[in-house]
Amino acid sequence: EAKDKGKSAYQRFSPEMSQDSHERLQIESRLRRALELNELKLYYQPIVEAGTGRLVGAEALIRWNNRAMGLVSPDKFIPLAEETGLIIPIGEWVLKTACEDIKQWQKNTGLGLTIAVNVSPRQFRDAGFTNTIDKVLEDSKLDPQYLELEITERLILDNSIETSGIFKHLDDKGVKLSIDDFGTGYSALGYLKSYPFDTLKIDKSFVQDVIESSEDAALVTAIITMAHSLSLKVIAEGVEEAPQLDFLNQHNCDFAQGYYFNRPVPAEEFSLWMSDNLKATA
Ligand code: C2E
Ligand code: MG
Ligand code: MG
Ligand code: MG
Repeated sequence: EAKDKGKSAYQRFSPEMSQDSHERLQIESRLRRALELNELKLYYQPIVEAGTGRLVGAEALIRWNNRAMGLVSPDKFIPLAEETGLIIPIGEWVLKTACEDIKQWQKNTGLGLTIAVNVSPRQFRDAGFTNTIDKVLEDSKLDPQYLELEITERLILDNSIETSGIFKHLDDKGVKLSIDDFGTGYSALGYLKSYPFDTLKIDKSFVQDVIESSEDAALVTAIITMAHSLSLKVIAEGVEEAPQLDFLNQHNCDFAQGYYFNRPVPAEEFSLWMSDNLKATA
């Protein structure tokens, strides 16, 4: 036993590894305390109707502001939160906060705004996930149709009975489901007909060059056509410029999201942006 321990310690702290794993452990212990220290914050980015610019909802995007490390990107800490299981309490906090905020904004604006929340595979498959959803909806009094869960193809790869049961629970409940980063995964397309998705989000890497690249233009057009044939709504991510929006409109894309409309901003700022936007489009 002692021998095994020695061996794994040796492997872990081999010269080329020590830097990385030390940093990892440090980030992990800081992430463990992030919730209680109030270091996590939700930012919101608008989702609009592509043709009219009408506001339909927002995506909640997590931010971690640590005293020692500053702003840490979710691309860096979400994978770590997944590996360590910390995604379960963090994800619960995200769901609760996002549902409360959108409920408040629905009251303020009188609009049926939707909140899109990212859910990672480990969180989705956790035994308590459906209970968390039920509880969050009950506590916030948000109508389930206004909650849209964004999942990636990575989750679909594991085609387990549990996954199907969770999909069914959510669908019965009336929660919306969207497939995020579409086009970047490795799944076969068949899952689109086996699971109750409502929305498909075209990954921003295709939208970015849609004007310059005829290949990307062809892919985006084909994705929109396919999605509509399957009765899915389409959101284009990463819209930064007017010509991209024009292209998406010409090809009947339903909704758009990106820096062109607004960057993700804190709740208070989003609320202000929303009143300006609603005044301007009234
Ligand atoms: P995502 O869900 O695909 O979110 C879209 C990302 O694109 C966000 O990055 C957003 O800030 C960025 N973005 C939006 N508009 C534009 C644009 O016009 N141009 C460009 N270049 N980028 C744009 P962010 O906020 O850094 O989040 C990265 C990823 O982290 C998300 O990708 C999502 O997979 C994950 N994530 C964020 N929040 C959460 C969360 O609460 N839970 C979980 N499980 N994952 C999260
Ligand atoms: Mg997303
Ligand atoms: Mg459904
Ligand atoms: Mg995405």
